[in-house]
Amino acid sequence: MSRFIFEIDGQKWFKEQVTDEIGHSLRIDNILFEGEVDHQHLIVFENEVFGRLFALEGFIQVSTRDEFIYHEMLVHVPLFAHGNAKRVLVIGGGDGGAIREVFRHQTVEHCTMVEIEGSVVDFSKEWFPTISDGAFDDPRLNLVIADGAKFVKDTDQKFDVILVDSTDPVGPGKVLFTEEFYRDCRPCLTEEGIMITQCGLPFLQPNELRTAYLNQKASFEAPTFYSIAVPAYSGGIMTLGFARAGGENPDLETLSERVKSANIHPFRYYSAAAHQGAFALPAYISHILDTG
Ligand code: SAM
Repeated sequence: MSRFIFEIDGQKWFKEQVTDEIGHSLRIDNILFEGEVDHQHLIVFENEVFGRLFALEGFIQVSTRDEFIYHEMLVHVPLFAHGNAKRVLVIGGGDGGAIREVFRHQTVEHCTMVEIEGSVVDFSKEWFPTISDGAFDDPRLNLVIADGAKFVKDTDQKFDVILVDSTDPVGPGKVLFTEEFYRDCRPCLTEEGIMITQCGLPFLQPNELRTAYLNQKASFEAPTFYSIAVPAYSGGIMTLGFARAGGENPDLETLSERVKSANIHPFRYYSAAAHQGAFALPAYISHILDTG
């Protein structure tokens, strides 16, 4: 039994240690894999409510039942805010859900995905085929197995949208929350480019949000955040960072027109109104940004 699994009355449970004081447990109905992969500890299991899930370093990454919320909002918010994104960079995102949504946009001509863990891509194709839904075979994809932080430091390519679909700041994901990483992302963006970052659950991890904000502010004029609630991530709403190199955000009418003409349907979560509304942050989150 590993540190992430415990047993009561013969029933196995997965425990995510959300903070030192809080653990979140899910019944394990079937376990498909548990062990060390290249850089991280991996567990793949099934739960009646959430479907199939995997966790890296004990933190849930994806569940087949609610991944649409995270992936639709991670991808469509920046792509519709940009309006004509042709080149996209995904950092992390090894399950393939982000690239699945990216490739639903006809404007996208190219997407580079830089994932540090080749095995995440391999097991996602095998055990989570509905998440990538064929996106790994899209000819527009350039899959690079490498550290995303190193990639942005070394590349001279430019992208209209950068999606940092990362783990929490633990293990190899830690570097993706640093001032240096955001500084290296900035020149990789085109003039009106947008960078999106996964910034955790601010009620439980206020420092993660505050640090990301301060570190982004060093390189971007007005980084802002939007919120979503993903049931498998215990601790309430999560925040995604939104930082623009330039350009204006569209109003609701323009956004609705872009969504209509993109002819992508059906969405299960995203809409122009959900997009706009997600930027209305609850006061306690604004307070974290203002005061720490
Ligand atoms: N939806 C998820 C969440 O919010 O927890 C993120 C899922 S995605 C699977 C996270 C991916 O980021 C993992 O596959 C992990 O291997 C990858 N990753 C972590 N650090 C990385 C780095 N420095 N460069 C590239 N990929 C990284």
